[in-house]
Amino acid sequence: MRQPLVAGNWKLNGSRTSVVELADAVASACGNLPIETLVCPAFVHIADVCGTLDGQNLRVGAQDCSDQSSGAYTGEVSAQMLAEMGVSSVIVGHSERRQFYADSNERVAAKFEQVQSAGLTPIFCLGESAEEREAGTTREVIGSQLQAVIARCGVVAMKNAVLAYEPVWAIGTGLTASPEEAQEVHRWLRAEVAAGSAEIAAGLRILYGGSVKPANAAQLFAEADIDGGLIGGAALDAADFSAICRAAAG
Ligand code: PEP
Repeated sequence: MRQPLVAGNWKLNGSRTSVVELADAVASACGNLPIETLVCPAFVHIADVCGTLDGQNLRVGAQDCSDQSSGAYTGEVSAQMLAEMGVSSVIVGHSERRQFYADSNERVAAKFEQVQSAGLTPIFCLGESAEEREAGTTREVIGSQLQAVIARCGVVAMKNAVLAYEPVWAIGTGLTASPEEAQEVHRWLRAEVAAGSAEIAAGLRILYGGSVKPANAAQLFAEADIDGGLIGGAALDAADFSAICRAAAG
């Protein structure tokens, strides 16, 4: 019913040559799988990667965008500019943006709106820190991240969006939420959206992210509400990323 999606977040990595080689290798390995696959290079590599993937079954996304559409915002890149480059999706609310670049819930909601206004799909990240989990406030934290977007864009905006539950303590740490822990949060997130629209919630893809590797991917993706993954470290290795994609294809 929901087509699995595996997205690779390449972060601040690679050279022009290496990202094109990586994209080619991923496209050859994953192009025939019955899932959606997406790679997210740095802004400056998007044109090269889109060029090399022309006609291939691998989409390109961006890792972030501006919360503004145009104007005197030096250094920013708008969602509309990204749409012109040929990307299909934009990650918003990644924990590294929230942590290191002060992206508040409100700014993430504004970015989400910009992405949809440009006709693109937001991949909207939510997640709690280790301290928040230990304090028992996971639902409160991710609930307010979710509600900030719903307050600005309406629950109807979830129709053309993807959620990515990424516990901050699991990103790049080698610690993964157990399939049961992740499923519990995914089910809860889907129920929160269902409170606004059961139909939209049923079709909404919710990815898991946080140290997904070939060795743990199949177990995570077997859970009923986990519809694929947002992959960081393992996305930089074509063999590992394609093994994760095969796990999502079942
Ligand atoms: C991420 O950065 O979104 C991520 C999930 O990273 P990693 O897979 O390395 O934990």
